[in-house]
Amino acid sequence: MYLIKAVECYAPEHLGRVDILIGGGKVLGVAEKIDPPRGLDCAIVDGAGLVAAPGFIDGHVHIAGAGGDGGPETRTPEVLPKALAEAGTTSCVGCLGTDGFTRTVGSVVMKAKSLRAQGLSSFCYTGSYQVPAPTLTGGVETDLCYLAEVIGVGEVAVSDHRSSSPTTSELLKLGKAAHVGGLLGGKAGIIHVHMGDGADPFRPIYDAVEAGDLPISKFYPTHVNRNDHILEDAKAFGKHAPVDITVGAGPDEPPKAIGATAWDAVIALLAAEVPLKNITLSSDACGSLPVYDENGTFVSMQVAQPRVLLRTFQKIVRDGLLPAEKALALITSNPARILQLSGKGRVMAGGDADILLFGKNWDLQWVFANGVPWMQDGDLIRTGTFG
Ligand SMILES: [Zn+2]
Repeated sequence: MYLIKAVECYAPEHLGRVDILIGGGKVLGVAEKIDPPRGLDCAIVDGAGLVAAPGFIDGHVHIAGAGGDGGPETRTPEVLPKALAEAGTTSCVGCLGTDGFTRTVGSVVMKAKSLRAQGLSSFCYTGSYQVPAPTLTGGVETDLCYLAEVIGVGEVAVSDHRSSSPTTSELLKLGKAAHVGGLLGGKAGIIHVHMGDGADPFRPIYDAVEAGDLPISKFYPTHVNRNDHILEDAKAFGKHAPVDITVGAGPDEPPKAIGATAWDAVIALLAAEVPLKNITLSSDACGSLPVYDENGTFVSMQVAQPRVLLRTFQKIVRDGLLPAEKALALITSNPARILQLSGKGRVMAGGDADILLFGKNWDLQWVFANGVPWMQDGDLIRTGTFG
């Protein structure tokens, strides 16, 4: 049990200075003054000079590895729990990616179970880039019903040379499977869509929505900052449905495949009157990332890292591009609401005790995941079984 005293708190809305009591993996109370419970072992954390925020939710991580589209040597490794924890990412959503052939939904589901067993929170999508979607139990609907970790289908690729070029009817059927599976399983039942480089990239989604009676908000496109014309189209799409920006290259890193920087993309969407509640950021961690020099010449292949989400958040708040409560919403309350992750994304009594404490200049100092500290005073004090 921990009592964080007199900490400036963003829940993500600004609560001012509060005490936060956590125990049994939950937030037990958030109030102006909380006394340590008598007779119970309760460590006090002095919140002076610290800022509390919800643990980050990274909605797009290739948790079981990905890549491979540059040959077998470009297959990427699985994510390590410590790589998530040191990024302040206490919850992540796993997805398969391009290779739904030699990699399986089963390995993604088991990796999500593995992260959970090691103390972090993890969810995942069934399916892959391809349609028909590979599944574990024989259908998207039954995967959503039977598998606790599965919250939707994706990332399904459209407008990309690596996609299976789903027809309107195929995309609509897949969307309905996710929708019905979501209703039956009590999940978001969302269709997470990988946006490729093709012309008129949102057209397949619009066509599927027009052909059936599926709400547009069931589609949740990602990589909407991949290039200028996708970002332009996302300004219209994002007024009606959620859109996810890939952080890609961090503020201190060389340019990689993704086009507009995440912070420029957020500002552009907000300026186009896309509601903040419809915008999220994710890392695409463990995806392979080609690195280019200033002239656009291929230099090397790297792997995307969870920490870039933290770096991007820090860039946004340190440069004053957005107030903290808005910057935090992009990676806490927004994904929690869109993906229906109950108990996640907010500092609130009864919620899961996923809490970050930042020091001066938004340096990450403490990470609690389900009430257990992984980082203390800026040092990682816990890792997963193998790192
Ligand atoms: Zn993708």
